[in-house]
Amino acid sequence: ESEKKDHWFIGSIDCGTTSSRFLIFDGEGTPVASHQIEFENIYPQSGWHEHDPVELINSVDQCMEKATAEFIEQGHTKDQIKAIGITNQRETTLCWDTNTGEPLYNAIVWPDTRTTSIVHELKAREGADDLLQLCGLPLSTYPSSVKFLWMYRNVEAVKKAYDEGRLSFGTVDTWLIYKLNGGKEGGIHVTDTTNASRTMFMNIHTLKYDDKLLDFFKLDQKNITLPKIVPSSDKDAFGALAYGSLKGLKITGCLGDQSSALVGQCGFNPGEAKNTYGTGCFLLYNVGDKPVISKHGLLATVAYDFGGGRPIYALEGSIAVAGSGVKFLMNNLGFIKHSSKITELAESVPDNGGVVFVTAFSGLFAPYWIDDAKGTLFGITQHTQRGHIARATLEATCYQTKAILDAMEKDSGHKLGGLAVDGGMSNSDLTMQTQADILGIPIERPIMRETTALGAAIAAGFAVDIWKEFDELKEINKKDRTIFMPQITKKKSDAMFVHWSHAVEMSKGWVKE
Ligand code: ADP
Repeated sequence: ESEKKDHWFIGSIDCGTTSSRFLIFDGEGTPVASHQIEFENIYPQSGWHEHDPVELINSVDQCMEKATAEFIEQGHTKDQIKAIGITNQRETTLCWDTNTGEPLYNAIVWPDTRTTSIVHELKAREGADDLLQLCGLPLSTYPSSVKFLWMYRNVEAVKKAYDEGRLSFGTVDTWLIYKLNGGKEGGIHVTDTTNASRTMFMNIHTLKYDDKLLDFFKLDQKNITLPKIVPSSDKDAFGALAYGSLKGLKITGCLGDQSSALVGQCGFNPGEAKNTYGTGCFLLYNVGDKPVISKHGLLATVAYDFGGGRPIYALEGSIAVAGSGVKFLMNNLGFIKHSSKITELAESVPDNGGVVFVTAFSGLFAPYWIDDAKGTLFGITQHTQRGHIARATLEATCYQTKAILDAMEKDSGHKLGGLAVDGGMSNSDLTMQTQADILGIPIERPIMRETTALGAAIAAGFAVDIWKEFDELKEINKKDRTIFMPQITKKKSDAMFVHWSHAVEMSKGWVKE
């Protein structure tokens, strides 16, 4: 059995917010070869955030070539790779010309807030109150629908293509799959249910496009080609690579990045949760085979859908700024030279010294949903050092995670027993210890933190029958996890949280320019 396992591998494309990666996993879930390329994050104006669609696909292509070359150098052969999975930054919205396959505008990236005024307008539109029940998402700047609407209203080429019925809409998964299959020569136009559940176009109960939703946004499917919605794990739905060293290899898995991390953490049972601290921070809580529509500011989303008409749902808490707060201290304020140095700087002081940083650069997401909140720094005194601000930046994500878990407890009626973590910022021991302290529950961190990429590999592997039962994955990536136990009293952590909540109140309602 184990000898057989040594002989096959699965590839995983991970197109995140700051970089693309390609990893080749063995049957134990260990990456044996990988390559990563950072791409440009474009900020044309305050609140605007874009990617060049061509750079996204080019970076993926290069990562695949480099990692495959490394794999071959190790003495493996290409045919040992049985399938490829894709995982991607969600909500990020692209439009291309159906006839030429050329992008009509840059991708508008998920934290972009240029749609604030459109959102205000939409909230007043008839039917706005019904959206949450239908698609599981509240109206905000976050989903793809409002990003598309902005493009339609402001980009001449997009409007023209829509009017002439040659507009293809897609999220990053759809774009990559289209290009990898050959683009205008043979490209297919699909998305999986987890990605579709972030657009506001899909009915979360039926997993189909819903006319009530499309009508609300005044979209006509005669003019806009939406991707076909398929399960996250399927041996035929995603086509195969049309070019490159791995030409002919099938793509058999596709999951939005946060769904993928839940799968990669093996959160297959209702009541299990994971928190990924990347550019933003996303907590997904498995609620089983029926969606739970939140009453407390969380999102209902498809967790994963391995076919057979039995999707699994999650409650999600999304935080817009996590690792990007660390990058802000590095790039804008020059506090550090590398993200990993943030912990050292934070440890140069014993505590936050009374400083609270509401890192609301894109408003506040879950569970607050305050579109017009602005980043706000409180509690500065003559004694404040850079270390205090570094600590306050790391703590901001930990407090928002607590607010999300409090909301989840209210929605689900259950208290979480522990939290599995991953993502770039989870490398910081101080941050994870702080998280355990603030939540009062153990935090579990695996050694192999590429859980997002692993999830897509698992989805791909299931489609080609490498695994048939979730039970077979029980041991995957479970060895030698680090557990952070709470070390401060509840009284102290409650007092810190009160301080934070007060600061959130004061970050609201900044006048728009
Ligand atoms: P994404 O998939 O969103 O691109 P990653 O999971 O790769 O994100 O995480 C990258 C983020 O994590 C960056 O914003 C970076 O600042 C932050 N980060 C990386 N290493 C550390 C570290 N050791 N301590 C704190 N933050 C870190």
